[in-house]
Amino acid sequence: MMVHGPNGAGYPIRRWTVDTDLSAVTWILTIGPRMKDRTRVVSAGRLENPKSGSVNPPVHHTSTVLFPTVEAYLKARSKSFEVSIYGRLGTPTSAALETALCEIEGGFRTLVTSSGMAAITVALGAFLSSGDHLLMVDTVYDPVRSLCDRVLTRMGIRVSYYDPLVGAGIAELITRETRMVYVESPGSLTFEVQDVPAISHAAHQRGVLIAMDNTWSTPLNFNVFNHDIDISLQSLSKYVGGHSDLVMGAVTTTEPLHRDVRRMGALLGTCPGPDDCFLAQRGMRTLPARLRQHQDSGLTIASWLAGRPEVSRVLHPALSSDPGHAIWRRDFSGAGGLFGVVLKPVSDRAVHAMLDGYEHFGIGVSWGGFESLVIPTSPERYRTATAWTADGPTVRYYIGLEDVDDLIADLERGFNRLRAA
Ligand SMILES: *Cc1c(COP(=O)(O)O)cnc(C)c1O
Repeated sequence: MMVHGPNGAGYPIRRWTVDTDLSAVTWILTIGPRMKDRTRVVSAGRLENPKSGSVNPPVHHTSTVLFPTVEAYLKARSKSFEVSIYGRLGTPTSAALETALCEIEGGFRTLVTSSGMAAITVALGAFLSSGDHLLMVDTVYDPVRSLCDRVLTRMGIRVSYYDPLVGAGIAELITRETRMVYVESPGSLTFEVQDVPAISHAAHQRGVLIAMDNTWSTPLNFNVFNHDIDISLQSLSKYVGGHSDLVMGAVTTTEPLHRDVRRMGALLGTCPGPDDCFLAQRGMRTLPARLRQHQDSGLTIASWLAGRPEVSRVLHPALSSDPGHAIWRRDFSGAGGLFGVVLKPVSDRAVHAMLDGYEHFGIGVSWGGFESLVIPTSPERYRTATAWTADGPTVRYYIGLEDVDDLIADLERGFNRLRAA
C-alpha cells in the first residue's frame, strides 16, 4: 500500500501502513522527500485510504482484529512488533498518529500512551530494574517525583535528585549502578535550562541511558534526537492536543530501545482510545502556527511583566535577562507560552485577590490549550537537591491565543487588586 507524498530523492522515514492481506497495521521503512518542519507536520502520517478520499485517518474502534485464515493469523502473531493483532497493541488510528509524531521527532519509533504519566511510567519501567540507580533532575514535573519516591523505590530502584544546573558535573554522580539520567528542560515551575548536550555526553561516555521530558518545547522547539537523547517523552495533553480536551502521551526512542518500550506499553496496557488519537493528530496539524503565536504573545507579556513594580523576577528562558538564556539560545529554536513569575513579597490573600478576579486567565493546572491559565506554585515543596529561595510568592502563567492587549489589561487590573488587598 502506498503512502502519500512523492518518493523522490530523500531520506529514510518510518511509515505505518495497513496490510490488506493481514487486515492489520504493519510498519515499513520508506524513502521520503526532504522538507522543513512545518511542511512535515502537515504531511506526516497521512495514510492513504483506498476506500475514501478522506484527508484524515479513519477512527477504528477496535479490540478484536479478524484474520481470513489461521495462516494469516499465525503470520501476524509472529510479527508482533510490526503488526497489531489486538486493539491494545495498536490500531490504524494510533499507528497513524505514531507515524506522524515519529516523523516530526526524527526518532526511530513512537508509542502513544493514555497519558504523559503513562509514557514516563512505560519508559522508566522498560529500562529500570531492582538494584539500578536513576539520576532524576530536581526540577522534574512533580508527579514524576512522586512516582519515583512512592513506586520505583519500593521496587528496589535507587533514585537520587540532581541540580538542574549540574551540566558536565553529572559525571561525578554516575555510579556503576546508574542506568538512566532523566532531564526535563526547562524545569517544571521554575524553568531552569539544563545543559543537555553536556549531560548526554557524560551519560553516554559511561554507557548510561538518557531520557528527556520535552513537553515544554515539543519536537519543534527542541530536537531531542539531535541532542543525543535516547528516549523522548511528551505529554500530548499539552501543545499537541492543543485544545484542553484530551489526555495522552508519547514515548519516542532510538532503534535499540523501541522493542522494550513497545513490550512494556503492551504489558502495562497503557494504550489510548482511538477518539483521543484522532484528536491528538488533528491538534498536531496546527501545532507550528499555534506554538509560534503562544511564543510571541508569551514573550510580549513576559517582558511587560518584567517591567512591573509588583514583580521581582520573570522565569522565562527566552528573556535575555534570564540566567538560562545563553543555553536556551544555543539549543532551542523557540519557546511556547508557559513561564513563571516571582512576585515581590506580598500576602497570600493579595495573590488570591489578583488571581481570583482575572477575566481571561482560568485557574487550573495543565496548559497547551487555546486559553490562558494561571496557578500559584510552591516550588520549595518539590526540591531536595537544591533549595528554592525566592523571597516572594511564585505564580505560573500560560498565555493562550487571546489578543495580548486584552490579556495585559486583565493583568493590569489584577495588579490593582493585588495592591488594594
Ligand atoms: C503535564 C505534564 C506531564 C504529564 O502529562 P499527563 O498527560 O498529564 O499525564 C509530564 N511532564 C510535563 C512537563 C507535563 O507538563
